[in-house]
Amino acid sequence: MIKENIERILLELPAGVELVAATKARSVAEISEALETGIKTVGENYVQEAEAKFAAIGKRARWHFIGHLQKNKVKKAVGIFDMIETVDSAEIASEIDKGAKEAGRVMPVLVEINSGREKNKFGILPEDAEQFIASISGLGNIKVMGLMTMGPNLREPQELRQYFRITSEIFQRIKSRGVPHVDMRYLSMGMSGSYKFAIEEGANLIRVGTAIFGNR
Ligand SMILES: *Cc1c(COP(=O)(O)O)cnc(C)c1O
Repeated sequence: MIKENIERILLELPAGVELVAATKARSVAEISEALETGIKTVGENYVQEAEAKFAAIGKRARWHFIGHLQKNKVKKAVGIFDMIETVDSAEIASEIDKGAKEAGRVMPVLVEINSGREKNKFGILPEDAEQFIASISGLGNIKVMGLMTMGPNLREPQELRQYFRITSEIFQRIKSRGVPHVDMRYLSMGMSGSYKFAIEEGANLIRVGTAIFGNR
């Protein structure tokens, strides 16, 4: 089923939109099957879980971190991931910068936007995004390359559209104004139930788990 699911989704995607397989709780065998069917990038939520899978799969995939990153996991994360999609504080930005510097690399990152303004969710509030990005743009070993958002957990996926739109507007605004050292290239929004709406609102990275691998 994994193969058929991926083929069906890929056929629907407009040019320029990349399908990231969200692989939390999926096995190395499942991920390998996905990689054989045209998936290039996987998204993992937990550093420890990703570490085990990375040991088996390595550079056959590009690895995106899509969970909440804790300070004490940054060093390991820098050794595994090609992009961290969830920078949500100045402190974690600075830790990633430090870790990447020690590893002799520059880490591409996205800034997570708390588009639903939820108290219990991580992410930068929409009105703080531009200032936040300017404030971390001078860190020499991270490279801000766009935004990511989850949006609230809603029963009707089309209700997420407004949160995708808020995030897309921030993305476009920062892109058109231009911030030195910042390259607004990726807008990561949309999951299994909502990626179609996200793409209509401008997403070019979608993170899909269930629609590829089935229910967890
Ligand atoms: C699990 C997860 C997804 C994928 O969710 P599905 O509904 O299974 O497609 C996308 N993004 C993040 C951050 C996730 O944790």
